Amino acid sequence: MTFDGRVSIVTGAGQGIGRAIALRFASLGGDVMVVDIDIDSAEETAREIGSMGRKAMAMKVDVGNMDEVERMVGECVERLGGVHILVNNAGITRDNLILRMKEDEWDSVMRVNLRGPFNCTRAVLKVMSRQRYGRVINIASIVGLMGNIGQSNYSASKAGLIGFTKTVAREVATRNITCNAVAPGFIDTAMTRTLTEKVRQELLSNIPMKRLGTPEDVAHAVVFLASEDAGYITGHVLSVNGGMYM
Ligand code: NAP
Repeated sequence: MTFDGRVSIVTGAGQGIGRAIALRFASLGGDVMVVDIDIDSAEETAREIGSMGRKAMAMKVDVGNMDEVERMVGECVERLGGVHILVNNAGITRDNLILRMKEDEWDSVMRVNLRGPFNCTRAVLKVMSRQRYGRVINIASIVGLMGNIGQSNYSASKAGLIGFTKTVAREVATRNITCNAVAPGFIDTAMTRTLTEKVRQELLSNIPMKRLGTPEDVAHAVVFLASEDAGYITGHVLSVNGGMYM
């Protein structure tokens, strides 16, 4: 599998799953636009890609802001020579039980997790439609499939992202653009490191493979869906969850 001559945009690539995805594309010969709201971590990822001999550019972008997203896609085309793959990975949690959930906790999660992918996808589809080639991969979640106490906002955003994936897949299929989702289970990143030991042990007891996933486990699934080999797969939701939900 090679990404030679392919340019990917990965959002939230300063750390965690996004960083692992960006590095995996680079290790397979691709160039990467590293997008994050935290420029220091984005630059760190871009530096690492540069040291692997690939082109990378880091940009501070809030995916919820359409102007910033459109500027970023323009820069990507101009400086990296195009855009072939978009990975909508940036996401946040603002957990609370539904009865206690504040409006801003609901709105901020929707803005990043759902409006973010809408902004980025709409912006890249203009380029991808013209070139009659593209791969869009949305990072959903197991929680969007099965629900989770304290995450009504997050699970709704991820279930929404799955509906979005299937609709985009239908709309752009004739232009040789695929759109798929990856639904990770519980992955060992900053997002899950705040879990108490008790919650962690409970979680593990529900995972047949008896371990949390790694960012690399998710990255492998993403690069497959972004590859030439996955050209006839679209509108699919690929679970990467150690068997926790099937
Ligand atoms: P993470 O470690 O928190 O990384 C997410 C990155 O996105 C951070 O660098 C974050 O920056 C950035 N970001 C946040 N808001 C942004 C915005 N508005 N615009 C641009 N970048 C923004 O999370 P992760 O665990 O790698 O998760 C990555 C994706 O996988 C998310 O969509 C998440 O919902 C999904 N997922 C994760 C798990 C899991 O168990 N970890 C499971 C299922 C799905 P800051 O740190 O500065 O906020």
